[in-house]
Amino acid sequence: MDIKKLTTGLSVSPQIVASDLQSLKDAGFRAIICNRPDGEGADQPTFDEIAAAAKKVGLETTYIPIVAGKVTDEDADAFNIALTELPGPVLAYCRTGTRSATLWSLGQAGNRSLADILAVTKAAGYDMAGVVRRIVNGGKTPTDTGDASYEVVIVGGGAGGIAAAASLKSRMPDLEIAILDPADVHYYQPGWTMVGGGIFEPEQTSRTMGSLIPKGVHWIKSAVAAFEPANNAVILDGCRVVKYKRLIVCPGIKLDWNKIEGLVETLGHNGVTSNYRYDLAPYTWELVAGLKQGRAIFTQPPMPIKCAGAPQKAMYLSGDAWFRRGVLKDIDIQFNNAGGVLFGVKDYVPALMDYVEKYDVSLNFFHKLVAVDGPAKKAWFDVAKPDMPVECVEMEFDMMHVCPPQTAPDFIRVSPLADAAGWIDVDQATLRHKTYENVWSLGDVMNAPNAKTAAAARIQAPIVAENMIADMQGKSPVAQYNGYGSCPLTVERGKIVLAEFGYGGTLLPSFPKAIIDGTKATRAAWFLKEKILPPIYWKGMLKGREWMAKPEKVTVK
Ligand SMILES: Cc1cc2nc3c(=O)[nH]c(=O)nc-3n(C[C@H](O)[C@H](O)[C@H](O)COP(=O)(O)OP(=O)(O)OC[C@H]3O[C@@H](n4cnc5c(N)ncnc54)[C@H](O)[C@@H]3O)c2cc1C
Repeated sequence: MDIKKLTTGLSVSPQIVASDLQSLKDAGFRAIICNRPDGEGADQPTFDEIAAAAKKVGLETTYIPIVAGKVTDEDADAFNIALTELPGPVLAYCRTGTRSATLWSLGQAGNRSLADILAVTKAAGYDMAGVVRRIVNGGKTPTDTGDASYEVVIVGGGAGGIAAAASLKSRMPDLEIAILDPADVHYYQPGWTMVGGGIFEPEQTSRTMGSLIPKGVHWIKSAVAAFEPANNAVILDGCRVVKYKRLIVCPGIKLDWNKIEGLVETLGHNGVTSNYRYDLAPYTWELVAGLKQGRAIFTQPPMPIKCAGAPQKAMYLSGDAWFRRGVLKDIDIQFNNAGGVLFGVKDYVPALMDYVEKYDVSLNFFHKLVAVDGPAKKAWFDVAKPDMPVECVEMEFDMMHVCPPQTAPDFIRVSPLADAAGWIDVDQATLRHKTYENVWSLGDVMNAPNAKTAAAARIQAPIVAENMIADMQGKSPVAQYNGYGSCPLTVERGKIVLAEFGYGGTLLPSFPKAIIDGTKATRAAWFLKEKILPPIYWKGMLKGREWMAKPEKVTVK
């Protein structure tokens, strides 16, 4: 018997036989639902035989037969009612278990998120792609067939989405494009480090979404719930369907605050902050400005995260503020990093180590934040050093800057577009989907092994635009991505170590060494970050001007 557990109350399986009932009873099941109509297969026991054998061992049974491929809304209701009435745990079966899993999925539609339902069924080996629209529609068959349709649909209007739309429009002004994004506000997240360092005001990092959508591009202010790439369709929350000829997927990364016990309750209070949220970055500066003595912990979760340098940028700017105020000697700075190195590209580490020493930072590698008690000012870390058993250590703090664990967004992770780890599965040179040829992706959500940064999206957007337009013209991809990403490490107010690198850690400096030597802390790089990069973002990248972003052409050998 191939039994797959969906919940503590329900498992599903392929066809069972009468002799299985005793072992099912021994396994703890208390009731059986049969979803397979009698007489479907030559080797299939009837429901009555199963029911009689079940009765002998003290198991209850119910018969809700479903013709393959024809699960009605009423069937799902009947299944739901049976689950509440029967003693649990229940085993439901049909020929393969798919009909039972489908009934459960539709029955759960109002209670659980689509992503959760798809994740549970996927883990059990069942593909619910065929009923996604109905799940999004609360378990009911949608009646609205007025699907919108566009030449190009872009999922996500963040750094990557707006830039890609702008780059497409600058090449083909008449192209019909729709951006799907539920957010009212677009954020320049690279500015949040500066807000947390008391340099930028939060308002400098936000604009209304409406003001940034390129002229002539439609904005559908809705969240995407699911993808049907085989039908060239995306399904919005509420079950509206938008069809496309070509699709660009860029909804960013999920910040998984809930993964750390106690964190959500205390964020923004009790000295616990994060530059990873617009509303919390000012609290970082408030804490730094107020701290005179005690311990400050800065945490970094396992990779991948967006802007891998941001956790330590917050630390250096805090250390610098305490140094300038003359209180640094009374503040114990701890950098608790789930990883085993200070920065992934070794060329930048010596310059960073100078500041680790200057601020007398204790580097605690392999320390992963797992829980926090804000009022008690205590945090717990799993310490997983190589070849050592994991131990949990407790640390007290006066302030703690948390970088949250990060994953692919739930609706991406469970979609047909994702790789095994949950990221959009693209060719790392062309940024085209590996399976669906009319799908491209950029930004934090896709699986190319570059540093997830807005600087990377700046380079990727024109590449996606070039390659998509080449495809429209029946040509092969013409532009290729070298993995460029950039991380301006704000080591002190007025100086930055400007890490710029591509695939495999290859250094890709934008300027000659005489102007900016990225491996050293320089004033020129600070000037770039403070004064030049914001207009490059707002006025260049988001407007299709492609400053510092000319696409690299495919080399023909
Ligand atoms: C503290 C911090 C510091 C950083 N520092 C730097 C830096 O110095 N340099 C740098 O280059 N980068 C930096 N970054 C990283 C940079 O901001 C991101 O890499 C970049 O924004 C990624 O662009 P994106 O388009 O993939 O995602 P985002 O810009 O995050 O946009 C995603 C968009 O998708 C939308 N969306 C989400 N779900 C859905 C859905 N279901 N349906 C439709 N739309 C959806 C969202 O509303 C959002 O508008 C930093 C980030 C942070 C948080």
